[in-house]
Amino acid sequence: MRALSPHALRRGWCPSALRPMETGDGWLVRLHPPGAVLTPAQLIRIAGLAAQHGNGLIEISARANLQIRGVALATHPELVATLLAERLVEEHDGDGPQRLTLVAPPLPPPACGGEGRGGGESPGRGSATAGRARPARPPIPNPSPLKSDVSDFSNALAMSETSDMAEAGGRGQRGALIDAAALADAIEARGRAIRGLPAKCLVIVDDGGPLSLDGFPCDLRAVAVAGGTVAIGLPDGRWLGPVDVADAPEPIAELLTAFAARHRENPDAIRRLRDLPPTLLDEMIAATGLPPTIPPAARPEPRRAGRFTTAHGQAALIGLPFGRSDVVTLERLGDAALRAGVAEIRLSPWRGLAFAGLEPTAVEPLLAIAADLGLIVDPDDPRLSIEACAGKPACLRAQSDAMVDAAALAEAAAPLLATGASIHVSACVKSCAHNGASDLTLVAREGGYDVVVAGTTRDRPLATLDLPAILARLRPGQDLFSRVSERGTTGPRV
Ligand code: SF4
Repeated sequence: MRALSPHALRRGWCPSALRPMETGDGWLVRLHPPGAVLTPAQLIRIAGLAAQHGNGLIEISARANLQIRGVALATHPELVATLLAERLVEEHDGDGPQRLTLVAPPLPPPACGGEGRGGGESPGRGSATAGRARPARPPIPNPSPLKSDVSDFSNALAMSETSDMAEAGGRGQRGALIDAAALADAIEARGRAIRGLPAKCLVIVDDGGPLSLDGFPCDLRAVAVAGGTVAIGLPDGRWLGPVDVADAPEPIAELLTAFAARHRENPDAIRRLRDLPPTLLDEMIAATGLPPTIPPAARPEPRRAGRFTTAHGQAALIGLPFGRSDVVTLERLGDAALRAGVAEIRLSPWRGLAFAGLEPTAVEPLLAIAADLGLIVDPDDPRLSIEACAGKPACLRAQSDAMVDAAALAEAAAPLLATGASIHVSACVKSCAHNGASDLTLVAREGGYDVVVAGTTRDRPLATLDLPAILARLRPGQDLFSRVSERGTTGPRV
């Protein structure tokens, strides 16, 4: 295995398997499994490799990638050689994104709506601008395998449109309107040919079903608006189309190509597509030949954990608390999935794992094992409403152990989180775990936290408090509970 260059090892690099990133607990190796899909045996194997080469911790990022923490540089080449030889990761040349697209994990089509363990309403992931508790939603229908070749694209779409849509639509519930995985693969193929795309560039491909990805920021967004038709969303709020899904990769590639050219000219100022001047964006839009269109209809935030019962099978969505697990837990979960007959596991952007194609009798035992392992199986679990960064000791910049503090907050603030509120715990101002605003943002500073209501880590805090004071004041009837409940728009200062 070739030794890594100092350039490849520099801190701040968007990490991958070949290019790890230095952190406070060793080197972080980010894995991009082909199609964001694993078998249970592969999950167990990755957990074993993380135990052998890392510090025993594995994470799922907000882009549905796995991360092995605490890897020793001395054995990194051996780890990468194994990952590549066993096809546990795919790596592309160049500085562009290893994975350009993000899709929701496809689950079988809905029969009578999803049902969570504990059922009922899900608080979902709140935001400073979101409403209160969101209704439970069924899973998206999309049993089609991920296509690895662009030529399979049309066939995959046809399968999606004739079976899944009819099934879902016949029950009054809108399911997947396109095969998002197939469209994502087509965009990936085009994107790999574009020189100079920033490593963090992201195109969201949303099948228009119940597992909406509206809450995720991105550079471009392709959202299904009817069977086989998508609208293309730009970061300034404009939408183009509608365009036949088979034709969508072309204008998306044109927009990305123009963006990459501007990024190469001015890499410091043009990092994301939203950084482009409006006049330039106008020119790029005109070049696609697509007309403006109305935005797709808003959908409720999706359930992110629990059981999904459908006409075509059963599925389980299991979350890792704050996106992190130890390897023993993942090995046990992989063993349980093997025993349950799971064929494939899909990585979820809600920092979890989706197990589809389960026999009805296999779902509850799998969820019970996951619950015993401390994983998230209930859509109402308060941990789903808290974003926390790696914190101490994992991050060199951290001023708090954000995940430990987040666990304490999940317990103390459960009544508040049940109202649909969201909390972001950031161990420094950089805000790695969550880009936007949250109902309550805590930024570690000098042994306490800056407290921001309805804002981001860069907004002016109301006060700086230590964690015990925050926990006490988040209980019902206390001032911070009231303030966050009101989303920070009124009320006394903390
Ligand atoms: S937000 Fe700060 S402390 Fe947390 S992981 Fe990012 S850089 Fe580290």
